[in-house]
Amino acid sequence: MKILVINAGSSSVKYQLFRMPEGISLCSGKAERVGEPTGGFITHKLNPGTADERKVKFDYPLPDHAFALEKITGILTSPEWGVISDLEEISGVGHRVVQGGELFKKAVIVDDRVREGIKSLIPLAPLHNPANLQGIEVAMRMFPHAPSVAVFDTEFHQTLRPVAYTYPLPYRFYEQLGLRRYGFHGISHRYVAREAARMLRQPLETLMLITCHLGSGASVAAVSGGNCIDTSMGLTPMAGLVMGSRSGDIDPSIHGFLMRNTGMSNHELEEMFNRESGLLGICGRNDMRDIHNARKNGDKLAQLAFEIFCYSVKKYIGAYVAALGRVDAVVFTAGIGENDPLCRKQICKGLEGMGIVLNRKRNLTAVGNPEVISMIASPVKVLVVPTNEEKEIATSTWQTLTVDDQCS
Ligand code: ADP
Repeated sequence: MKILVINAGSSSVKYQLFRMPEGISLCSGKAERVGEPTGGFITHKLNPGTADERKVKFDYPLPDHAFALEKITGILTSPEWGVISDLEEISGVGHRVVQGGELFKKAVIVDDRVREGIKSLIPLAPLHNPANLQGIEVAMRMFPHAPSVAVFDTEFHQTLRPVAYTYPLPYRFYEQLGLRRYGFHGISHRYVAREAARMLRQPLETLMLITCHLGSGASVAAVSGGNCIDTSMGLTPMAGLVMGSRSGDIDPSIHGFLMRNTGMSNHELEEMFNRESGLLGICGRNDMRDIHNARKNGDKLAQLAFEIFCYSVKKYIGAYVAALGRVDAVVFTAGIGENDPLCRKQICKGLEGMGIVLNRKRNLTAVGNPEVISMIASPVKVLVVPTNEEKEIATSTWQTLTVDDQCS
């Protein structure tokens, strides 16, 4: 069975075609500058991540999502770069949907009711759900024979209990507006938790894990027996860790303080917290590789940004040791988690008392590959597990289409 995975963002569409249930990726790609009249392009890879990988770039204007998907399907069926001869070969389309709220506890086949549900959640995810929905609507038109399945970023965090998800604000806001912690990156946290169990050769149900997804967006999750019990992102993906350009947790009164003292509008402040804060706000760079280069050249603010980022991760690890009561492994994933030994070392420094003892050599060599990077005698294992959100979406889609009963 072939499953196409689509991750539609506001200005991009990522895609990947899998043969399931083997989970083999046949091709992948990304359409960028979608919605702009000129300058659009699609990068496409055949046999991604294998020795036979081949890559090509197509330049097309991509004025909207429908146009981008049309071009993508054209590539998928083209003689030179395609992997199928007919779109009918695709049996299902899996979509990443950022916000499932309390409506969607698991992946679902999209029908009118589900579309309405995703639409009703737009106030909770105004930056993401509209683009996700657009991707679904275009795919349903283009693949009328293949069911679309919505896979939610919030789904893995549905097991949080009220004690972890309720904000200490007037309770009516939860009741009336759904104001609560939802958590994000759930597709990634679930994938790496399962992979970690496989690497440790222990059933996930027996393990206590702290999973750290450290990319340009970053979050931590406490996972007990495969169920998430707490996570650092909140109502939106702004909360928790210091990120590339997002502030993470800050004193809520800062918003009003800046409004009063700078004359910035609510919209300008939200943009600033989202796009000009975090690592970028502190040192003018949001890519950790650039920050390391600047640190080497004596840039003090780059050094400070690096330390603040690592300190914020370390504090969440400490908090989740307390929340879980016992921890078997700390798992690092995503751009920084998978590739950056300096950050991992700085985060784990001083956690030996909690049983987290890094093996320096292994930490240095684990770059982009799955590896146990703790000392053999370390009571808590430390793992690097490359994430694969597209594969996880394909797995969920396949399960929804072949195994699960429908319920939402
Ligand atoms: P996202 O999907 O959230 O955009 P990624 O998971 O791709 O982010 O992570 C992107 C970030 O990962 C980059 O901003 C960069 O800081 C970091 N990163 C990627 N590769 C490396 C590397 N080799 N060394 C250090 N940091 C890296």
